[in-house]
Amino acid sequence: MRLSLASIALLLTCVGMSMTAQESKTTSDSVVTSMDKSVDPCVDFYQFACGGWIKNNPIPPDQSIWSRFGELAERNREELRGILENAAKAPNRDANEQKIGDYYSTCMDEAAIEKKGAGVLKPEFDHINGLRDKAALPVLMAYLHGQGINALFDFGSGADFKNAKQVIGQADQGGLSLPDRDYYLKDDPKSVELRKQYLQHVANMFKLLGDAPDKAAAEAIAVMNVETALAKGSGDRVERRDPERVYHKMPVTEWQSLTPSFSVTRYLTSVGAPAMDSLNVVEPNFFKALDAELKSASMDDLKTYLRWHLVHSQAESLPKAFQDENFNFYGKTLRGTKELQPRWKRCVAAVDGDLGEALGRVFVEKYFPPEAKARTLKMVNQLEAALHHDITELPWMSEVTKKQALIKLAAIQNKIGYPAKWRDYTALKIEPGDALGNSLRANAFEVHRQLAKIGKPLDKQEWQMTPPTVNAYYDPTENNINFPAGILQPPFYDFKADDALNFGGMGAVIGHELTHGFDDQGALFDAQGNLHDWWTPEDQKAFKERTQCFVNEYDQFVAVDDVHVRGKLTLGENTADNGGLRIAHMALMKSLADAGKQPEKIDGFTPDQRLFIGWGQIWCENQTDQTARLLALNNEHSPGKYRANGVVQNMPEFQKAWGCKAGQPMVRENACHVW
Ligand SMILES: [Zn+2]
Repeated sequence: MRLSLASIALLLTCVGMSMTAQESKTTSDSVVTSMDKSVDPCVDFYQFACGGWIKNNPIPPDQSIWSRFGELAERNREELRGILENAAKAPNRDANEQKIGDYYSTCMDEAAIEKKGAGVLKPEFDHINGLRDKAALPVLMAYLHGQGINALFDFGSGADFKNAKQVIGQADQGGLSLPDRDYYLKDDPKSVELRKQYLQHVANMFKLLGDAPDKAAAEAIAVMNVETALAKGSGDRVERRDPERVYHKMPVTEWQSLTPSFSVTRYLTSVGAPAMDSLNVVEPNFFKALDAELKSASMDDLKTYLRWHLVHSQAESLPKAFQDENFNFYGKTLRGTKELQPRWKRCVAAVDGDLGEALGRVFVEKYFPPEAKARTLKMVNQLEAALHHDITELPWMSEVTKKQALIKLAAIQNKIGYPAKWRDYTALKIEPGDALGNSLRANAFEVHRQLAKIGKPLDKQEWQMTPPTVNAYYDPTENNINFPAGILQPPFYDFKADDALNFGGMGAVIGHELTHGFDDQGALFDAQGNLHDWWTPEDQKAFKERTQCFVNEYDQFVAVDDVHVRGKLTLGENTADNGGLRIAHMALMKSLADAGKQPEKIDGFTPDQRLFIGWGQIWCENQTDQTARLLALNNEHSPGKYRANGVVQNMPEFQKAWGCKAGQPMVRENACHVW
């Protein structure tokens, strides 16, 4: 288990509407047409900045959320499609081009997938059906986990929180197919209804495998029973944000004592993990619950549960009926998406997921010029200087803690665009015509890569996101900020636009990631990435009081119907948003002062105002009610509206820029201010 990466956006795996990079460059025009000037910016800044965009950008039928991130991801996806179509047929391909090209064309060959039918799963099902007794389960689980089928629990690797130079093994809760344990446990009408629909979906998948309706219905109940037992043992999403709460390094023998009926040594040997004495058992209670379930569940029910996980995880490599059924539940019911994405988009996503650095390498060569990297680096330096100044001036922090904070800031490393060393995919075989095999072998390659790290030093040069990704992240155990090439484009950074707009976009994104080093999670890790307290008790107390202000503020925001934003779940992201925009503003002011010129208005707006417009406009979005609900319950980021408004309400700089007065909605009476 890795501490959840603190990123800027939801990871958008799907996008809609087709447009070329040229057409969608941010221009002065698009800034203005995205706005709704009939709204008072002091009353609802998000509507003022985004009203035009929201009106003109309905959610495409194959999407559940449509945003500025999504627009850019769509542009990148079109470019990736071009790369892949070319790699599929180009003569004299190199090894990487062969892999990405053949993976893509095999994924696209729906006729061949249809012809093979669900029978391709037979060898895998034979493994499951061959389970003779529960004592053999560890070997079977190692086989399934080894192919990326994440049933019953999760096993992988990650930095040792208290000795971050080192990678250790990590065993964690897992084995659910709904988005969170709460979906199995809550009794409100929406949750009850959703479980009914989930049962139907699981039964439908079994029917597609050829089981009779009665049998399929009973199998769905068996799956639900196993998953509900696992859900009961699982930790709460908010509590799991606390790094101390998810760190239990213990000898392998102690892990074994939590699950006496499952031989962990047999599992570890079979899965091919390097020898280890100890590991992080993230959720000890989960393994007790797992043990109880393994004792009480019948062999048949366990096999049914494993068959479900196999067919569920590989639905995209199976005939269309499986893809459609999978979409009906996970796309339509859960997210409110109207139509299944065209196959090419799903295949591009699959290549990005399974061969991300082979594909990303070509993407970077074609679409990420060295100037883009240099520009970003310059801005990172400006933002780091601003955060340095901000920390120095903080009224609530002692000099002792400030000194430590500055040591941590100075140690943050920047990674921009793409990895210094590309991943070597030599060991991964991609065969034309074998869609399921390609997917399972790619999973196996990744599992092997993760497990091989155990016992080795942490490699901070590695990336957790692929180059075309429209996102960014801070990694607390590595103490570095990471900006994939995919996000370093309009509307985040436009080399044709004025500084003010770019500081409100990319500048604030950089500020956001830097601030993650000092949010409620990041602040618990030191300059070396160790979970180690560097605060005085008084400063820690002042910090907690100040972050509680964000919890109270965001708790009040309504995501949809009666569902509120969860202040505690989104605390890290909200802290990063607030700190990020504040230091972006400081950096812009300094850059304007250094230039020594009287800044001009553009489109009638001062640089100050344009910075805020730039910020507001990266959050323009439309989403279905279902998705708004899903994200509010499970995602650590607030909805776009509150990412824009929740921050500016706390900023006297904003109120001054727009002439807002006390009592107006964008002037919060008890403004929150941490960084
Ligand atoms: Zn973030």
